[in-house]
Amino acid sequence: MKKTELDILEKWYAANFENQLAGRRILIEDIEPILKDLKAPFQVQKIGESEEGRNIHQVKLGTGPKKILLWTQMHGNESTGTKALFDLFKYINDSAHQDSFVKDLLETCTLVCIPMLNPDGSKNFTRVNAHHVDLNRDAVDLKAKESLLLRSVLDSFQPQFCFNLHDQRTIFNVEGFKNPATISFLAPSIDVERTLTAGRKETMAAIVAMNATLQQIIPNHVGRYTDEFYPTATGDNFQKLGHNTILIEAGHYKDDYDRDVVRKFNFYALLSGLTYLVNNDTYTDYQPYFDIPNNGKQNFDLIVRNMKIDNNTQVDVAFQYEYEVVNNELVSKLVEYQRGGLKEFYGYQEF
Ligand SMILES: [Zn+2]
Repeated sequence: MKKTELDILEKWYAANFENQLAGRRILIEDIEPILKDLKAPFQVQKIGESEEGRNIHQVKLGTGPKKILLWTQMHGNESTGTKALFDLFKYINDSAHQDSFVKDLLETCTLVCIPMLNPDGSKNFTRVNAHHVDLNRDAVDLKAKESLLLRSVLDSFQPQFCFNLHDQRTIFNVEGFKNPATISFLAPSIDVERTLTAGRKETMAAIVAMNATLQQIIPNHVGRYTDEFYPTATGDNFQKLGHNTILIEAGHYKDDYDRDVVRKFNFYALLSGLTYLVNNDTYTDYQPYFDIPNNGKQNFDLIVRNMKIDNNTQVDVAFQYEYEVVNNELVSKLVEYQRGGLKEFYGYQEF
């Protein structure tokens, strides 16, 4: 995406993002009224229920041959992708903004979006579902209802590309920088040898396009996850089955603990990725993927330097925010995470 296009987009976003969704804890009750209001070209359909009987929906749009599946909040406490996806719906829906991209998108692609695959986890603000299953490690066993549902959509829809949207913790930085990894990507491996298959190269090429956009807005805030093979992970398995699966992890940005700034970068990433898929028929420019720095793990929410432990001892202590739902409200508290050995670490706040 060119700088001039980004300037226009930035203005559109500031005035038009989906302002009915905000904060870290996004529930099925938050998104259902918005889904109910979606009109053509969106086709909204309930496709199943969670273990505790909450609705799971899909939003389908477009009629083209390039099939793309997106899902969010398979980890219930990771809502940034959901907010970004609804921003994307706003963008597509905005009649004042029916640019050629939206027309081309609907003509060349068919999109199936599952906003919030794990509504029970969203309610409890947990990664896992109601039966304590991590859906992103359930791609082989398929123990959870929600995993089976995602798999049945994959099998019947047969997408060429998938977008698997997650949030990552604040501890991740971009290697070589103090910057948080505000957005991180992964083109998952299909085997322990991390073989560069044709499909993985296509996944990488889409990531290259998204990274090129983000570097213009948040330079050196984009990281890349290790491509170590996870035999039970969703992305690794879907990629292995021949569906190019792009993992997007939304992370921290300066003071943005609600991730209402980061959602915009997540939206830009989605839009750039889709633009790339719409405008190209072969996806070959994968080499710059390896220039994206790795994710580091060197940042903390708070480091207190030289904290007095007793009369003789001073030590650096790192703290992280932890979240829980109390009386249906999300509350955070700082929890001690590491004592000492923090020379090479950086705190978003330091005292
Ligand atoms: Zn996740």
